[in-house]
Amino acid sequence: LVKAVDVCKSFGTFKALQDVSLEVRKGEVSCIIGPSGSGKSTFLRCINLLERIDSGAIWANGELIGYRRDGNKLYEMSDAEIARQRRGIGMVFQRFNLFPHKTALENVVEGPVQVLGESPKAARDHALELLKRVGLADKAGSYPAELSGGQQQRVAIARAMGMRPSLILFDEPTSALDPELVAEVLDVMNDLAASGMTMIVVTHEMGFARNVSNTVAFMDGGRLIEHGPSARVLTQPDNPRTADFLKAVQ
Ligand code: ATP
Ligand code: MG
Repeated sequence: LVKAVDVCKSFGTFKALQDVSLEVRKGEVSCIIGPSGSGKSTFLRCINLLERIDSGAIWANGELIGYRRDGNKLYEMSDAEIARQRRGIGMVFQRFNLFPHKTALENVVEGPVQVLGESPKAARDHALELLKRVGLADKAGSYPAELSGGQQQRVAIARAMGMRPSLILFDEPTSALDPELVAEVLDVMNDLAASGMTMIVVTHEMGFARNVSNTVAFMDGGRLIEHGPSARVLTQPDNPRTADFLKAVQ
């Protein structure tokens, strides 16, 4: 479903991503781990077109991301085409970034109505179903400030799902949460994984990586050093840098 090949991205002279290649199949959960500054967020942002790549290619749903091919030539996509592609890819950030002046329900309804053109009634029914799914049926009318961090993050996940994405990217979804709130968010992600959603999850939660994800990728210094089945990468990494990192976090 997602395939990145030799993706490079620089900020000025700084190489944030160097030849990053990764393939995630439909229904798979892939965790990306690695030290701070290794390029994990940048890579997600490239998949989601929040950043333009300098070279290489990314496909999602069989479509080249950000570029249009015409014969042998590649053209940058128009903003409208980029917006269309981005719609199919959900993103959940470390900070929940909900609209503060909208209720939980309104936060979930907004995108489907404004962007997908769903009828308010259909979007509302779907949103209520999603809020129920993340355990927040009784909080539909609450504003973000009235919700705990864990509840806000669950609304953010429901909001991402409201757009009916084929893929959801998570960038450290639990690292801004108080420890006692982490499990409720991981439970929702676990459910989502079990329902067959394709997910790429940047996380420091090794339990989630071990128990939920199919594959784990380790990034260091802008490179994707290792990628393989979770159990193997987490217990018998091929690369000594992966081993050192795992020793440090466990
Ligand atoms: P963390 O675990 O701390 O979130 P990360 O692996 O997500 O780290 P990135 O945020 O992808 O790391 O950043 C990778 C490198 O690219 C960092 O050195 C960062 O300073 C640099 N970087 C990221 N975005 C920009 C930008 N817009 N302009 C300049 N440098 C950037
Ligand atoms: Mg990051």
